[in-house]
Amino acid sequence: MRLTRLYVDAPLASDRLFELPAEPALHVARVLRAREGDAIVLFNGDGREFEAVVDSVRGSRVAVAIRQARSVDRESPLELNLVQCVPRGDRMDWIVQKATELGVARIVPVLSQRSVVRLEGKQAESKAAHWRAVAASACEQCGRNRLPAVDAPRPLVDYLGASAAAGLRLVLDPAAEGGGPVWTAGTAIEIAVGPEGGFTAEESDAMRVTGYAGVALGPRILRAETAAVAAVAWLQTRFGDMISL
Ligand code: SAH
Repeated sequence: MRLTRLYVDAPLASDRLFELPAEPALHVARVLRAREGDAIVLFNGDGREFEAVVDSVRGSRVAVAIRQARSVDRESPLELNLVQCVPRGDRMDWIVQKATELGVARIVPVLSQRSVVRLEGKQAESKAAHWRAVAASACEQCGRNRLPAVDAPRPLVDYLGASAAAGLRLVLDPAAEGGGPVWTAGTAIEIAVGPEGGFTAEESDAMRVTGYAGVALGPRILRAETAAVAAVAWLQTRFGDMISL
């Protein structure tokens, strides 16, 4: 059976007894019903994973004995940033989970002028915290020992005004013509995905001015979440660490 991997937001060190923070402790005690002697793996996002054994379970308090650490790198050589217009409902959770599994380095949630979703101040911060938790549990499941960065949501035009291109910038656009620039394998790519209603003309202009090249993913119109996952898989295959034939 595969070992349970647990993300903990705390410093970790080998050969130590460690009391799990409240949330993972509750999960280990109540959901996994772990017993003394059960083996688990802990990671905190610093690139290492720690073998550990449950030492004691007292109510919802769990102490584990941390054994050795290993550095296990499951990161893509391609630094992929997903600039995603936040779709309606809980579809962003799905996108964050899948993009994390597919190895993106950073997720930048943005609100476009046509976004149905409105998020400001505290609400924006608490959404970001929620998405970071979704990314952490995707890392537990898929074996990544580094968490993707997840920004707080902000208007797309604010992001464009404040950021500089770190590499190739692409925007998914069903109307983009084929035969665009020949892309050479860079180490950083930013891919932007629009909202249900598509970008406004002002946003499309702002993206062009800030160096985004349009790219189409075939003749069918995909839902925003399908487009995001398809684009990330395509870029990891072409320039990252998914199979290349
Ligand atoms: N009604 C919109 C489509 C929105 S689909 C329009 O006609 O523009 C939501 C987002 O998914 C789009 O903004 C785009 O970024 C992406 N997308 C969907 N299908 C795509 C395709 N075939 N090629 C490129 N991007 C696509």
